Amino acid sequence: MKYYFKPRYLVLAVALVLAQGCARNPVTGKREISLMSTEQEIAIGQQSHPSVVATFGLYEDQKLQNFIKTKGTAMAKISHRPDLPYQFHVVDSPVVNAFAVPGGYVYFTRGIMAHFNNEAEFAGVLGHEIGHITARHSARQQSGQLLSQIGLIAGLVIAPQLGGLAEAAQQGLGLLMLSYSRAHETESDQLGVEYSSKIGYDAREMADFFGTLKTLSDRSGQSLPTFQSTHPDPANREKKVSQWATEYQKANPGNYSAEREDYLRLIDGMVYGNDPKQGFVEDFVFYHPELKFQFPIPRNWIYENSPSQFQMAPKDGKSMMLLTLAQGNTVEEAAQNVVKQYNLQVVENQATTINGNRAMVLISRQAPQQGQQGQQQAQNADNTVQIATWLIQYGGNIYAMHGMSYLNQFTSNFRTFQSVAENFRSLSDPDKLNRKPDRIRIKSAPRDGTLQEVLQSLQMPANHMNDLAVLNGMALKDRVTRGTLIKTLSK
Ligand SMILES: [Zn+2]
Repeated sequence: MKYYFKPRYLVLAVALVLAQGCARNPVTGKREISLMSTEQEIAIGQQSHPSVVATFGLYEDQKLQNFIKTKGTAMAKISHRPDLPYQFHVVDSPVVNAFAVPGGYVYFTRGIMAHFNNEAEFAGVLGHEIGHITARHSARQQSGQLLSQIGLIAGLVIAPQLGGLAEAAQQGLGLLMLSYSRAHETESDQLGVEYSSKIGYDAREMADFFGTLKTLSDRSGQSLPTFQSTHPDPANREKKVSQWATEYQKANPGNYSAEREDYLRLIDGMVYGNDPKQGFVEDFVFYHPELKFQFPIPRNWIYENSPSQFQMAPKDGKSMMLLTLAQGNTVEEAAQNVVKQYNLQVVENQATTINGNRAMVLISRQAPQQGQQGQQQAQNADNTVQIATWLIQYGGNIYAMHGMSYLNQFTSNFRTFQSVAENFRSLSDPDKLNRKPDRIRIKSAPRDGTLQEVLQSLQMPANHMNDLAVLNGMALKDRVTRGTLIKTLSK
């Protein structure tokens, strides 16, 4: 969680996606209706970019940013649309993902960069993403899946009314929900083969990377939002890409390389997994070392920390809490903004202090959303959400801690909400403030053996073994020869 405000660009972007036009498709050469004009596409990219950056942050590593820019620019030049104002960025997220926004904006997470094992794998995915742009695939919004995909708390069905507020607070991530049809994904895979081959990479490596993605999703149920969600069968995709790559190389003989060592040296030292500076949970306490605060999490609640908010809920999903930033210079001003933003009806409010910080408690209700026929449903205790909001001024920010449940269960939940909010306090424990993330360290295998034996001889702990196998794109029993570069993890 980095705490940025909800961007307002998305509404405009969606409106533009819906705008109709007619133009020739640069890849197929066919005339198509419902294509946006190039100017509209560029406007979407430009308007979305600040919200992507605000949501994730850019990963601070100049040589990695230079690498993606250099390769992206080279590939854009040989693509079907060389003249767009392309931009390529690595964003600071541990999730394994890459995505493209119309107009030439391409993003890779540091999570996916950590999982490539050579430049060719990266180039294949880069070609796939550029392909969505050059083939003018019209992205569609998967709003129905918003909560299940980002929403965060995996496997939890939150009462629908309660989800509303979290969803509103989460709109900045809507961009990630752009998805394409299967036909478009297949076309992008083909373009990935073509484009990466044209700049000299062996596209069979791209096929191997689908193997890594498959292992990742099989293992942890980790969602891989745009990259493979529309492909129910990654094994089949792997086979097809491998076949296209082989055909391409047969038809266009030349030198196609993987560049394994250069790539591994490039990502040596890269942050892997969650970065504790963006907040972490330990023994049912959430700590935020950068913003220097902490608060407790009720026993047995589940939680999710995302770049813009921290959410938590009991397993029955009948209440939930949400911490996010509020806008305003004072708690009073912030309260007014919250009321306006979520369309709340205030029941009562009161100034207070929380562990020495100026604060305000606000009890409010959110009327039920409009029914199917557009009529306002009658407000009653079963469908009205009551919300307790604590606005807390601390360290130059105002935090909004919301606790919400249906009106008829509010009283029984209030004490829990209160025990969380009233224990929001400053964080000064140096042990928590100085937590370091895991980083990828590239080592030369000190001996021949299985990957597992080699990792053990490099003192890798047992609990990192499976992660390391996936990161290296291997199985633990695969043979490694002495001197081979492999990924290890350490602080
Ligand atoms: Zn795709």
